Amino acid sequence: MVQCRLCRHPRSALLLDSLRTGQTDTFALRRCRNCGFVTLDPLPSGEMLRQYYDDDYWLPTDPTTDGIMARFLMLRMAPVLREIKRLVPAGGRILDWGAGDGRLVHWLNADGFDAVGIDPYSRSADNDAVIAAAIEDAPFPSGSFDAVLAFHLIEHLPDPVEAVRAAVRLLKPGGVLFAEVPNIASLEFRIFRSRWQPLEIPYHLNHFTPDTMVHLMTDAGADRIVHMSFFSHRVSPSTPVLSVAPGLAPKEIRRRHRRYPLPLNFGYLICQLVAYPMAAAGAVFRKGAVLRVAAKTRSGPSR
Ligand SMILES: [Zn+2]
Repeated sequence: MVQCRLCRHPRSALLLDSLRTGQTDTFALRRCRNCGFVTLDPLPSGEMLRQYYDDDYWLPTDPTTDGIMARFLMLRMAPVLREIKRLVPAGGRILDWGAGDGRLVHWLNADGFDAVGIDPYSRSADNDAVIAAAIEDAPFPSGSFDAVLAFHLIEHLPDPVEAVRAAVRLLKPGGVLFAEVPNIASLEFRIFRSRWQPLEIPYHLNHFTPDTMVHLMTDAGADRIVHMSFFSHRVSPSTPVLSVAPGLAPKEIRRRHRRYPLPLNFGYLICQLVAYPMAAAGAVFRKGAVLRVAAKTRSGPSR
């Protein structure tokens, strides 16, 4: 019996079984019979997750390709920056939750925003740009930010409800929570099932549909959904490619060779170009592999 971490319902149904990690552990996915929230089962212990993150997740950067890849990444992130500019007032205060190395914080500040990052696993050298803490321990008073960004982060949280509540508390009235997660209601998940790359066993503990994402945000105190879309230039073209050929993942190749050879890297990019139309078509039917949602808190002082 697995209690739903979103609605607390006691009953769930088996969705997928015998999901293997790169190591010897196996997991299942279960879906709540009440709200449809999908959870990894069993939840890995904190100790186990720390080991997985230490072994696999963080790899040294590669100076021969990283410059080129950073430029590509910037190009692919441009639509997200445009969307942020549409949702957040110019010069607004932004918290990038799960900021990693602080790249997005840097770009936002260069665009005139007043941005800061927070990430308990931060590897940023700049401690003023990225604070190493969980969102519940963020050193800011309630109502500090015009926007909190949560890109590919909420799927990693053992207690998404409490964490998103903490994020919403940090927003000013009329502030925006802007999140992106994999979409378990996607066409791709139906096709690839246990081979679907964004399952990322055991790193992704939660999987959302449009309904469960709205449920999460409104339960956490957001007032209304102001944006929902199903495509990311950064993520969407890579998920079908990596579902078919997981060996092409930069992470896999760097683990084996300590670097990502340039010809392979271009091969991977070409595969993604081929996959673009399929990924975009899925998104048109609101069945894309990513789910991007923005929700606003109530404007005015009577929150
Ligand atoms: Zn539920």
